[in-house]
Amino acid sequence: MEQNKNINQFDIPLAKRIQLNNSNSIFLKKLLIFSPFLLLLFSFFALRLIRNIEIGSLSILNFETPRNHDHRILGHLPYAEIPKEKLVLIEPNIEVHIDMRDSLLKMREEAKKDAIYLVFLSGYRSINLQNEIFYSLKSIRNQEAAERARVSAPPGYSEHSTGFAIDIGDATQRETDFETEFENTDAFKWLIKNAAKFHFKLSFNKNNKYIDYEPWHWRYEGSIEALKVFETANK
Ligand SMILES: [Zn+2]
Repeated sequence: MEQNKNINQFDIPLAKRIQLNNSNSIFLKKLLIFSPFLLLLFSFFALRLIRNIEIGSLSILNFETPRNHDHRILGHLPYAEIPKEKLVLIEPNIEVHIDMRDSLLKMREEAKKDAIYLVFLSGYRSINLQNEIFYSLKSIRNQEAAERARVSAPPGYSEHSTGFAIDIGDATQRETDFETEFENTDAFKWLIKNAAKFHFKLSFNKNNKYIDYEPWHWRYEGSIEALKVFETANK
């Protein structure tokens, strides 16, 4: 008993001494004890970081959705069809919104004074006609909808159905009708300089990322109704 007691008395201080003298091993022991907690802590922060990244990318997506709140289809905004009683015939095959008639005809007259001869190619188009244009031409040209939408609006999405859009050509260069080359005509150069005086604006310029550049396509923004119709497009 006495011996055992002595051994125990010896053992403990010896163990204590070793521990006290080796601070590295204390550290290692503590590390071993705490390592599960550290691992837990680390995983917790790692998970939070991953979640934040996910939320971050989600918020980027959410930030992009407001763009779709304008209800575009293949880059085109929806337009209602103008009531028939607001349409007037300005030429055998060309009808436009009554609000825009005077301004449009005046613009052509003023251009003539500068020896520029504007031709009106297309004004109001019904949704039915747009339907034919979009779907028949699409199949003739063997194009997919998205491809076709770069050059023609899907039915219900054309500015032409509002009566406030007009396609213009140069009477001296008819080969440029509906062609990008129209931009090189005197008529186009005149329009760029003067159309705003008559409240006309180029709808699809070169910066439009969805729809191809259409130098011949102009829209009227000279009445409250027209401004309302194109409010989203102007944002
Ligand atoms: Zn057009």
